[in-house]
Amino acid sequence: MTHPSPSTRAMVPFVSVENMMRLVHHVGLTRFLVELTDAITDDFKRWPAFDKTSRVPAHSAGGVIELMPTADDTLYGFKYVNGHPKNMAEGLQTVTAFGVLARMDTGYPLLLSEMTLLTALRTAATSAMATRALVRPDARTMAMIGNGAQAEFQILALHAVCGITDIRLYDVDPAATAKVMTNLAGYGLNLTACTTPQDAVLGADVITTATADKRNNQVLTDNMIGAGVHINAIGGDCPGKTELHRDIVARADMFVEYPEQTRIEGELQQMPPDHPYTELWQVLTGDAAGRTRPDQITLFDGVGFAIEDFSALRYVHAASQNTAFVQMLDFIADPDDPRDLFGMLARAA
Ligand code: NAD
Repeated sequence: MTHPSPSTRAMVPFVSVENMMRLVHHVGLTRFLVELTDAITDDFKRWPAFDKTSRVPAHSAGGVIELMPTADDTLYGFKYVNGHPKNMAEGLQTVTAFGVLARMDTGYPLLLSEMTLLTALRTAATSAMATRALVRPDARTMAMIGNGAQAEFQILALHAVCGITDIRLYDVDPAATAKVMTNLAGYGLNLTACTTPQDAVLGADVITTATADKRNNQVLTDNMIGAGVHINAIGGDCPGKTELHRDIVARADMFVEYPEQTRIEGELQQMPPDHPYTELWQVLTGDAAGRTRPDQITLFDGVGFAIEDFSALRYVHAASQNTAFVQMLDFIADPDDPRDLFGMLARAA
């Protein structure tokens, strides 16, 4: 067998923001969200096969930068991601990200990808995965609280995966709600702009909160939550940054990704150490019960876990291979003689 030339064998496919947008449109946004939901579900179902650790944060007054690694026997993935709620007021995004997928056998990277768009897609797919497992089967109406960068993705994923058709929107900034109304016109959804969170949750079977505020907020209070509702609380994802009144968390049955991380970052941080929760992966494998009663309040305390990014990178790697949606990057130094790194440099003089 001949080896590829050194210059090509270590080239790393790179998916830029522009190519990610092309790839999503090439696959089709709905199909992309459905397939990504299934990819994440597949990986959650083989949870014990992964090396898992809470993400590694670097906090500052304005936000956080985090590394999110995980690996199975054959692949390693990590994401670099930030969360800076103050950014929006400065014309910058709250969340930006990129990531790498690599081979476990050689350690060589297989893919470098933008992940700002991909994070919005995978966070939406993760909410869809949790909602599909926990929502009442007759659910059709969703309240979307927080109409920022994540909102349209969250709505479209629940539409595609869970058959949600009626959307009630609320944001403290009406301009954000107007943006979603404009962006989602033409998707066959019944969209209603609401002026209070109380109005938005009226008749909602699913409530998703994706607000950005670096404090213990109370976007929803206990009196707003009726029997049988499923909540995806995804905006509280840092120490000291939560969205729900404690009484809701106390009343609901809680489902989490990686408990060690959720304990520090999720709504769970408000609760005593013995507060009960169920790990979502066990609901997906059938090892734990999900919703057992129509009147039960289920809460997915989503903070975002590394396996979701791993699944997203794995999915994008497969979908982009041998397409025009990648650029090959000279990213890994790979001399002909592996011991002669210096010689390679010297010959380049
Ligand atoms: P964004 O800044 O684009 O949008 C946030 C929106 O929330 C803004 O429109 C803001 O006006 C609104 N808002 C703030 N306080 C509110 C309140 N009390 N009631 C209603 N609306 C309110 O941010 P984004 O990129 O959409 O992200 C939203 C949140 O989700 C962030 O906190 C982010 O860290 C988090 N997030 C979580 C995950 C995850 O995996 N769980 C992934 C991505 C983002």
